[in-house]
Parts: sequence; structure tokens; C-alpha cells
Amino acid sequence: MQIPGHIDPVTTGTVPLRGGNRIDLVGLTRDAIGGVLVEAGLDAKAAKLRAKQIWHWIYHRGVTDFEAMTDIAKAMRPWLTDRFIIGRPTVREAQVSNDGTRKWLLAAADGQEYEMVFIPDADRGTLCVSSQVGCTLNCRFCHTGTMRLVRNLAAGEIVGQVLLARDALGEWPKGTMAGFGPDPEDDDADEEGSHYTADGRMLTNIVMMGMGEPLYNFDEVKGALKIVMDGDGLALSKRRITLSTSGVVPMMARAGEEIGVNLAVSLHAVSKEVRDEIVPLNRKYGIEELLAACAAYPGANNARRITFEYVMLKDKNDSDDDARELVRLIKHYNLPAKVNLIPFNPWPGAPYECSSPERVRAFSSLIFKSGISAPVRTPRGRDIMAACGQLKSAATKPTRAELDRIAEEKQAALG
Ligand code: SAH
Ligand code: SF4
Repeated sequence: MQIPGHIDPVTTGTVPLRGGNRIDLVGLTRDAIGGVLVEAGLDAKAAKLRAKQIWHWIYHRGVTDFEAMTDIAKAMRPWLTDRFIIGRPTVREAQVSNDGTRKWLLAAADGQEYEMVFIPDADRGTLCVSSQVGCTLNCRFCHTGTMRLVRNLAAGEIVGQVLLARDALGEWPKGTMAGFGPDPEDDDADEEGSHYTADGRMLTNIVMMGMGEPLYNFDEVKGALKIVMDGDGLALSKRRITLSTSGVVPMMARAGEEIGVNLAVSLHAVSKEVRDEIVPLNRKYGIEELLAACAAYPGANNARRITFEYVMLKDKNDSDDDARELVRLIKHYNLPAKVNLIPFNPWPGAPYECSSPERVRAFSSLIFKSGISAPVRTPRGRDIMAACGQLKSAATKPTRAELDRIAEEKQAALG
């Protein structure tokens, strides 16, 4: 099977239904929920109303049990339970770093495993979400890149990570449902408590920076993020969501137009020679093409800059000349940009080392001096292998020869 609608043919598996013959409602649009209710026997009008209610319970209240849906008739709840489920990924392992970062190893209904990371900060909490099991691509500094692409995650499996994080952080609203009137059984349900706000939340931001290349799973990522942004559910603003791509140029304009979230681009090098080596997708979509696509990215402006991610690799891409060239390119393409310098996070068998702290500082200050912001990202969760580029779900330890073979296969698949 090919990834539908895609430019680069990459094979992927199919996604089985979770819950046996019951349909998992997580990941369906509101209309699609209405559709499955009609198929199950409701008339169109009733289905539309129920879909709206169920949506609210799933995404606003975090409910997984139809019995808890108090505005749905008691007699109807077992009928729903017999036919549908509100699924969650299975947690295989949960780890907490000594800096507070949390990592979960999750399993899908078919047993496929993927990881999700939560990074708490003083003023925000960021959930790093995976889009694929493994990755289509083979950036040489990335642990996920040593895995084959096993399959794309479905929209429900992507949004399921956000739901599960909310469960784990215990932050579903406790008041009554906004717009549905106060709950007479809830003593605390005063006027204020009945309106849910994001204030005081731990999970405030989402980055599509876990395992996988989100733009090679466009439709499912789009479906998931539309749900995350829906005002009657999780209601996260598009300004609080960032999608990171290694540079799948033909999908970038659609990402801007159809999803509209912030864009981060894994640039990592400023010459063809070095980028071809460390981000091999560059052989297909080169730096000029990539930066031109960035310049045309819908919605990017000085208030919403494109983030250029740049991993600091010792003696590979970290010279003063590299920094100057980076500035030149950004100015040449007139990009509303900020640069995010990422100290390389090591993993077993990685062929690179991190630049020295002095080198990273010097690189950063050269860029800052030209008027472009270039903060250094503090590595988080390294002790539990939760930092950028350390995620990998397969427990196997491939040999160097196997790793080379996987890299060759991936390159051949890109043509
Ligand atoms: N596939 C997407 C998003 C996931 S990776 C992409 O490549 O953009 C999130 C960021 O971490 C990317 O910028 C990626 O290049 C970077 N990264 C990968 N491996 C890393 C490592 N070992 N150390 C530091 N950053 C890494
Ligand atoms: Fe895939 Fe991103 Fe890792 Fe590259 S950096 S191998 S695109 S996950």
C-alpha cells in the first residue's frame, strides 16, 4: 500500500480497528462520528446531536466511558458501549527524567510501539508527539532514523497521545460543560467554574517532533491537529502548535494552507555537501528549494516566524563560516526566521559528537549579532533518552552493516 496522495511512494501498513469489531471514535471528525451513528441505526438528526455531545465528552471532558455521558439518555449508553469505544494507546512504559521530563512508550492496537514526551517548563508544558512508527527518512544524527518506517500513525493514534497526556497530567476540566448549563450534582459548579479555560494548565503546547516525518503522513497529521484545535474540545490554538519537517518541500504549502500551525524546519546545514550527508532528503529537495518554500509558507510573518532547527555537530556544521552562511541565506530569502540551536543528543552508535559549549555559544552569538534570534535549546530528558532525536521504539540493536542497509533502502525508496 502507498501513502495516499503522496509524491514519494513509501510503503506502509494498514491500521486495524481498536476494540475488535467496535469502532474507536477517537480520531474521527464530528461528521464521521455522526456517520457511524447513522450506520448503526440512528436517524440523521439524532446522530448529529449525539455526535456533538459525544465529541464534547471525548475532547472537552476526557471521558472514555459512555456511562459517564450524563446528558445522553440512560437507555442509550449501553447501546453505544456495545458498538463503540473511546480508545487510548496502551502505556507500555512511563519514565520520569531527573529534570521532570516524562517519556511514555505506547503501544497501538496492533502492538506497534511509539514514544511521546512531555517537557514541563516554568511558563509552559510541551507535548512532543509522534506521527509515524519509525521514520521514512534517515538523517544520520537521529536515532529514529535508524528504524525502518513500520507504518504511519492514524489520526486517532496521534490525537490519542494528547488525550493520554491529559489523563496522565490529571487536567481534564472538573467543572460542568460550558454551554450545557450548570450540573446540579456538582456543588462546586458556580458560574465561573462552569467555564473551562486553559489557565493553570500544564499541557499548553504541542510539537510534532516525536518519531517520524509528519509531512509524509499528511492526512492523518492534519486530521489529528484539526481535532486538537477544535474550539469545542481540546481547543489548543494553532499558535501553540509547531510542526517540524526535515524538508518535504511539496507538502509545505499545503501544511500552511490546510493546517496553519507554526512551522519548524530541520535545516542543520548550509552547504549541499554537508546537508546531503546529514539530512539525505536534501538530495531530493535541496537547500534553495527548501528555503524558497519557506519564504512562500502561508501565514509566516514577523509575528509568526519560521524556526530553523540546527543540530550542533562537532567539526561538521559548527564553524563561524557556517554561522555566517546561515545568516546570509536567511537574509537572502528574506525569511521571518529564528534559529534554534540544538546540542546534539547522543545515542548508542551515533556517528557524531556534540560541539563544545564554547563553540555553540560562539555560533549563537554570531547569529544574534546579525539581528536574528538564535537561542540554544537546553537538552531535556537525556537521562531517559527522551531528548530530541533519541526516540526509538524497537528494542533491537542493529549492527553497523544493518544500519547501512536500512539507510540504503530508505535512500532507494526516495528515488
Ligand atoms: N521528523 C521531523 C520531526 C522530528 S525530529 C524533523 O526531522 O524535523 C525533531 C528535531 O530533532 C528535528 O529538528 C531533528 O532534526 C532533531 N534531531 C534529530 N536527532 C537529533 C539528535 N540526535 N540530537 C539533536 N537533535 C536531533
Ligand atoms: Fe526522521 Fe526527523 Fe529523525 Fe530525520 S530527524 S530521521 S526526518 S525523525
